[in-house]
Amino acid sequence: MKTNLFYISIWFVWLGMALPACSQTSKNKTTMDTVNKSDQEWKKELSAEQYYILREKGTEAPYTGKLLMVKDKGMYRCAACGNPLFSSEAKFDSHCGWLSFDKEIKAGTIKTQVDKSHGMERTEIICGRCGGHLGHVFNDGPTETGLRYCVNSVSLEFVPEKETQTTDTITFGGGCFWCMEALFQRLKGVTSVTSGYSGGKIKNPTYEEVSTGTTNHAEVVQIVYKPKEIKLADMLDVFFALHDPTTLNRQGNDVGTQYRSVIFYRNEKQKEVAEEVITRYTREKVFEKPIVTKVEPFTAFYKAEDYHQNYYNGNSDQPYCRIVIMPKLRKLDHLFKSKLKSDK
Ligand SMILES: [Zn+2]
Repeated sequence: MKTNLFYISIWFVWLGMALPACSQTSKNKTTMDTVNKSDQEWKKELSAEQYYILREKGTEAPYTGKLLMVKDKGMYRCAACGNPLFSSEAKFDSHCGWLSFDKEIKAGTIKTQVDKSHGMERTEIICGRCGGHLGHVFNDGPTETGLRYCVNSVSLEFVPEKETQTTDTITFGGGCFWCMEALFQRLKGVTSVTSGYSGGKIKNPTYEEVSTGTTNHAEVVQIVYKPKEIKLADMLDVFFALHDPTTLNRQGNDVGTQYRSVIFYRNEKQKEVAEEVITRYTREKVFEKPIVTKVEPFTAFYKAEDYHQNYYNGNSDQPYCRIVIMPKLRKLDHLFKSKLKSDK
C-alpha cells in the first residue's frame, strides 16, 4: 500500500513538471537506421523485466535501478538494441528515484512522443533506433539544458569508458616488416599489428612481387592503437629509434624501395604530428645525416601472406630473428620500458 501511495505522489510530481509535448516531437528528425522486431522476437531477446519496461512502457520501482549509483565515466546505451543514448557526463543525481540525464548523447538519438496515460499528459522518451520505452523528459533540469531525462535503469546498459575507446590506424614502413611488427606488438595501447604492403601501384601484391623492388610497394606494418593510451608521437619515437631513417631505400643489408622509410598517414592530424616529430629530430640533430623518411597519404594496405604474420613470435630461433630482431627488442626494452605491455 505504501508503494502505491508513493507511486501516486510521484505521478503528480511528474504531472506538474511535464513538458508541452508537441514542441519536442517536432525536433525528432533523424536519419538513424531503425530496428523493427515483432513482439515475439523481443520477448525472446529481452528479460521479462526489460520486456515489460521497454516494450510495454512499464516503470521500474523508484530507487531500485542497478545503474543509479554508477559514477564511472562511460556511455549508456539502449538495453534492447545497443544504441548509444547518454554520456556519463550528462548524468546527475535528481533524487527522484530514477536515472537522470540533462541531454542525449547526440541530437536525434532519442525520440519523444505525447503520453496521455494515467490521466495526465507527459513527454515520453523512446530509443530513436528501436522505439524502446526509456522514461519521460521534463523541463525542470538543474543544468543549462533545463531538461531532465528521467530514465528507467532497466532500459539502459552501461559501457565503461575503457571499452568505448576509439582506435586509430597508422601505417609505418621501416625496413623488414618482421622487425617492425615484433616491436610495435609490444607497446601498450597497440591493439593489433598486421604486416603487409603499401604505397605501390599493383593490387594484392605477393611477397615475391614486392621483393623485386619494382612494384613500389613498401613492406609496412598497419598498427591499430588507442590514442588515449598511446600517443602517435610516442610511437614515432619508437619508429625512429629502431630503424635507420637516414638511409634511402635501405635498412642494413636489406636494399630496395620495398625497404624505404615511410609514414602513411590517414588524416591531417597524423600528418601534422609526423612532420612535427621529423622537424624536431632534425632541429635537435638526433641523427648525423638528414632524415629521408617520407610522409605520404595512405591509399591502400594489402595484408601480407599468413606466414609473415606474427613472424618473430613464431620463429624467434631463426637466424634473422636472433641476429637482427632480438637486438632491436633489447633496445626497445632499454629505451621504452615504461611503454611496453607487461606480458611481453
Ligand atoms: Zn533501442
